[in-house]
Amino acid sequence: MDVVDQLLENNRRFAGSLPASHDAIEPRLQLAVVACMDSRLDVFAALGLEPGEAHVLRNAGGVVSDDVIRSLAISQRRLGTREVMLIHHTDCGMQKITDDGFRTELMETAGVAPAFAIESFTDLEADVRQSILRVRRSPFLPHRDRVRGFVYDVDDHRLREVVVEDQS
Ligand code: ZN
Repeated sequence: MDVVDQLLENNRRFAGSLPASHDAIEPRLQLAVVACMDSRLDVFAALGLEPGEAHVLRNAGGVVSDDVIRSLAISQRRLGTREVMLIHHTDCGMQKITDDGFRTELMETAGVAPAFAIESFTDLEADVRQSILRVRRSPFLPHRDRVRGFVYDVDDHRLREVVVEDQS
């Protein structure tokens, strides 16, 4: 049996355990979270979030890519979010590759260079600071004053804030 078949069984139980309901499309906390895809980080559990409260955008590294900006623009302009929380984490897979090495691997196996940036990093906190600045400097986002960044420790489950000093 595929893992997906097991998940479908899980969903039948899940759906059966809940009353049918229809929540508003706008996240109740007016919050968007951008986090790494790491399987050890359960964003909803770690932050005490419930369905319907926040947008959660995830990718490898929790990178503020063009596509994350696209989602944040929709989140803020159409769905009412005002605040952005960025979460990187210890022991991230993006610290274990290099842009050049992974790009070369893709080119050698695919025969074509990827159009996307790899966005690996070595310094976790520096990358969080860069991510904060990317959000704060995006001309596409109307709400850029409340952007905070954190490192989640996958071993002790705690969040540590990364502060950006005086910036434009
Ligand atoms: Zn990661």
